[in-house]
Amino acid sequence: MSDTDWFSKEMLSEGLTRLYEPHVHSFFRANMFHIVGRDADLVIDFGMGFCSLERALNIPAGKPVLAVATHAHIDHVGSFHEFENRLGHEAEAAAFAHMHDADTLAPYFRTQPGALAQVPSPGARPETYTISPAPLTTTLRENDIIDIGEVRYTVLHLPGHSPGSIGLLDEKAGTFFSGDAIYEGKLVDDLPGCDIEIYKATMERLLHLEVHVTHGGHGVSFGEPRLRELAQAYLCSKSTQES
Ligand SMILES: [Zn+2]
Ligand SMILES: [Zn+2]
Repeated sequence: MSDTDWFSKEMLSEGLTRLYEPHVHSFFRANMFHIVGRDADLVIDFGMGFCSLERALNIPAGKPVLAVATHAHIDHVGSFHEFENRLGHEAEAAAFAHMHDADTLAPYFRTQPGALAQVPSPGARPETYTISPAPLTTTLRENDIIDIGEVRYTVLHLPGHSPGSIGLLDEKAGTFFSGDAIYEGKLVDDLPGCDIEIYKATMERLLHLEVHVTHGGHGVSFGEPRLRELAQAYLCSKSTQES
């Protein structure tokens, strides 16, 4: 299967494309986003890495590309190493540098029944799946700015799902890329590296964030009312468990 055939692409708006891997099990089928900027292109998250995302994107030769990983879980970093300028939160810098199973959680994929509906190439098997290390070239912190010309994204540190989970917010347009901090689908807070108390604080923050549209790490995009609803639902589910 060619690199282009492996990924599904959907143009969400002018200059914004969502990509995903339709043949990967739904638990691991994450969103990748390609934003065409004036001065640089921005790529957010990197799938499983079975085929080359970099080649599938067709970015003009010589144009700078900023590759931002929202966190170091397997379904978001497979093709991260293919990019030259790699940005991620400092709290997961070691995870990106080594891609150890304990950080990427790759064993969950290797043992997932029906992990791949189709194999990308003969001999590709989930059981032997590994991720190439991708050391960060720039470490990010809360409030850092990523500027691609005309559009600027503010880095939001949104831990809980993982220690270095980040979101990117275009405050002017209200466009929010949330990674796995919040998305349309079952949120995950019970894996190694998750912290429910910290996640609750992130959800409190998301409850009051002013955004127009959220593009999550999984599932479809949604508007502000749904963002509030998802954050509220998470907080309610945790307070019910406590009482
Ligand atoms: Zn994750
Ligand atoms: Zn994910």
